[in-house]
Amino acid sequence: MSDQLIGGGWLQAASSSDAIFTVEQFEPDHEAMFDTARRFCDEQVWPLQAEIEAKKEGVMAGLMDQASELGLTMLDIPEAYDGLELPMPVSMRVLENTAREQSMMLSLMVQNGIGSLPVVLFGNEEQKQAWLPAFASGDKRGCYCLTEPGSGSDALAAASTAVLSDDGKQWILNGTKQFITNAGFADVGFVFAKVVGDVEGATGFSCFIVPLDTAGVTLGAEEDKLGIKGSSTRQVIMDKAQIPRANVLGQIGRGHVIAFNILNNGRYKLGGTALGSAKFAFDAALEYAQQRKQFGKQIADFGMIKRKTGQMVADIFAVESGIYRAVGDMDADSQSRGNDAAAKLASMQNYAMECSILKIAGSELLAGVADESLQMFGGYGFLEEYPAAKYVRDARIARIYEGTNEINRIVMPRTLLKKISSGEIELTVVEGDESITQMKNSFAVCFNAARSHYGDSKGFDRNQEVMANLADMMTAIYLAESATLRVAQMNNTKQVHADSVALVTLQSVAKVNQLAGELADHLQVEVPP
Ligand SMILES: Cc1cc2nc3c(=O)[nH]c(=O)nc-3n(C[C@H](O)[C@H](O)[C@H](O)COP(=O)(O)OP(=O)(O)OC[C@H]3O[C@@H](n4cnc5c(N)ncnc54)[C@H](O)[C@@H]3O)c2cc1C
Repeated sequence: MSDQLIGGGWLQAASSSDAIFTVEQFEPDHEAMFDTARRFCDEQVWPLQAEIEAKKEGVMAGLMDQASELGLTMLDIPEAYDGLELPMPVSMRVLENTAREQSMMLSLMVQNGIGSLPVVLFGNEEQKQAWLPAFASGDKRGCYCLTEPGSGSDALAAASTAVLSDDGKQWILNGTKQFITNAGFADVGFVFAKVVGDVEGATGFSCFIVPLDTAGVTLGAEEDKLGIKGSSTRQVIMDKAQIPRANVLGQIGRGHVIAFNILNNGRYKLGGTALGSAKFAFDAALEYAQQRKQFGKQIADFGMIKRKTGQMVADIFAVESGIYRAVGDMDADSQSRGNDAAAKLASMQNYAMECSILKIAGSELLAGVADESLQMFGGYGFLEEYPAAKYVRDARIARIYEGTNEINRIVMPRTLLKKISSGEIELTVVEGDESITQMKNSFAVCFNAARSHYGDSKGFDRNQEVMANLADMMTAIYLAESATLRVAQMNNTKQVHADSVALVTLQSVAKVNQLAGELADHLQVEVPP
């Protein structure tokens, strides 16, 4: 298998610009789809901001119906079940274009992701027939019920239980799920609970399809949130809720496989939609800066404002390059395996590390851009009347859900350690004086030193500060390399893109050097200059 189709393969070899997917490769009919999504959000959603924020009865559900009529809830449903089954980068770009109003974007992202993919990827034929055409048309909506009051990051510690009834025909579910997006208008939840006792030789953490109109299922009140106020976030409470025995999704005791793989999907989609929101926030700030005058000049012409906009343009370019490269690689990997449910699953597992990179990169890009955009609005940025305040409020959640950014920083080195231990990846120092090669060499030295110091993943886990540095080095290298390769692939490179790559590379080298320097002291190893 080529390094391109090994998740993390870019760390062990030079990557080729020909091999990566970039947004410049989208076809005109794809662009038409992106335009439909964007116009829907500009024309139908954005004007209803106040009603959305106030959670006016029926507004979000009505917009979801309109979105379904435009095909925006069938992006990843297989064609065999009336969906569009778009290539992953196309589906990602459609969602990115819905990200101006983030409550709407989240509702759509859940419907096209964690609220339907459990059946796409793990359902049996009967379950697929029962749910997927209805998800595609928007007749039914799903939600993903993993988190509990006592178990968030430590999701497998869930206390919810599933007991088989005495006659063996029903599961009896008890427990409370916390923070469930779209619960307020969903028809079904994918609920994770622990099977009590031995059932067909299996037990433990499992996933169940729970229609929300089941007797014994109730919802908590809508949460009063800092941002994305228009999205539905409620508890799903199960008190002796009985569902048919056939409603187990996948295998009993294998719920963790569903939970973690669905999260991988959620992570890359969060990265891409955060990128979209960052672009909208940036556009609003730039437009304002070109109109607002102080000291007789447009504020956009002041050096410090130019530096902010230049930095934002470069960061957006780098994150966009990384996101579509990884999603393109995942798609190519899935296609090479036959592109069925098992292939899609295998490709998401293969690129789990990149999914975490995209989640961190997208959410932290959005945090920075939303904050600097508000700064460009000055005092008006602090007023709800202008868009910047809402972008800042709405952006904050992105660093928390789909695995907090701390958890994702743990996932990355852990996953790489597994790939190295299994022989799939080997990190070595290679010849070359280009910046990207030098950063990879520093990383290889640091990671190998950490491995010989700490041995296994338990040893790594006891040294989280080291893991965080390694994760941040990986993210910096991946984004800088992706931007560099993208520009190399472009026919007519615009100056702004060349400048973006130069800036991002320079800053990445400085960052990687600093992180490696800290690790060198800690691990008592010499890092190549
Ligand atoms: C608006 C919203 C929508 C959501 N939607 C859904 C949904 O649809 N379905 C669903 O199942 N869940 C959903 N969630 C839940 C979300 O995924 C969790 O909030 C998140 O995983 C964190 O869990 P927690 O809130 O319990 O925080 P905790 O796990 O208690 O974490 C608290 C802090 O400790 C840190 N921390 C925890 N463990 C470690 C560790 N090992 N090392 C270092 N730091 C650590 C965390 O990074 C965090 O900073 C949603 C949450 C919100 C707020």
